[in-house]
Amino acid sequence: MSLLQVEKMCKDYGGLKALSGVSFSMEKGEIVSIIGPNGAGKTTLFDCLTGYIPKTSGKVVFDGTDITAYPPHDANKAGMARTFQQIRLFPNLTVMENLRVGMHSHTRGGIWAGIFHPAWYRKQEELCYRKGLAILALFQERLLPRVDQKVMELSYANRRRTEIARALASEPKLLLLDEPAAGMNPHETRLATDLIRELRDKGNTILFIEHDMSMVMSVSDRIVVLDHGVKIAEGPPSEIQKNEDVLEAYMGRREHAEA
Ligand code: ATP
Repeated sequence: MSLLQVEKMCKDYGGLKALSGVSFSMEKGEIVSIIGPNGAGKTTLFDCLTGYIPKTSGKVVFDGTDITAYPPHDANKAGMARTFQQIRLFPNLTVMENLRVGMHSHTRGGIWAGIFHPAWYRKQEELCYRKGLAILALFQERLLPRVDQKVMELSYANRRRTEIARALASEPKLLLLDEPAAGMNPHETRLATDLIRELRDKGNTILFIEHDMSMVMSVSDRIVVLDHGVKIAEGPPSEIQKNEDVLEAYMGRREHAEA
């Protein structure tokens, strides 16, 4: 059974069809990227999958459960965690505090435990802290020294890394990354690419949207290509690179070749 099955997903905005019958599936451990020109419907697809916007029609089955109507917090509880094109962190909280928010769905709490700090609570806090450090270690020296620093004091690249770390903190079955390399320089993009590889090697399943083709082609097991809300191609990088429809829609090669 596939980890994720998306069936005939549609999203209309008035007369605009942002998604028109998009279907694809993902297996556990796969790295799948969603590509397409600006306005193709990539972020809309993420928003529909994770419950941030209502779908016009279509179905999402995740880990054997129909989650089509789940709001974001239920999709998260079911095992999906995502990052956003525009980073969404708590800027006044530290890196570790933001990670703790990500762990929220797996921890016990309550007002009394927060005030009186019983033994089980202290043990849980200690475990969460150690788990947070292990996640931050994935980013080498970038985040570990900044564990107690407020997010608003971080560089852009480190904020993007913190957002990925927070998503990982919920131990997702599926990690959805919306443009993990956006705004990064070539060196930072290579580090982000290495990170995705490392996460894959650790058994994570990742769906990501990205415009950086070097990253897409080097880490994706499979690529889904959208154009004007329609899936125009799907396959491994070697096939997608040669696909005429993709070249025409995404890279405009045909027009260039004929010009
Ligand atoms: P980009 O690569 O530029 O981020 P994208 O592939 O993620 O683009 P979407 O943001 O999903 O594209 O947008 C798909 C289409 O839906 C676009 O035509 C966009 O203008 C439209 N759209 C997105 N959100 C809304 C909205 N809230 N209201 C109306 N139209 C919208």
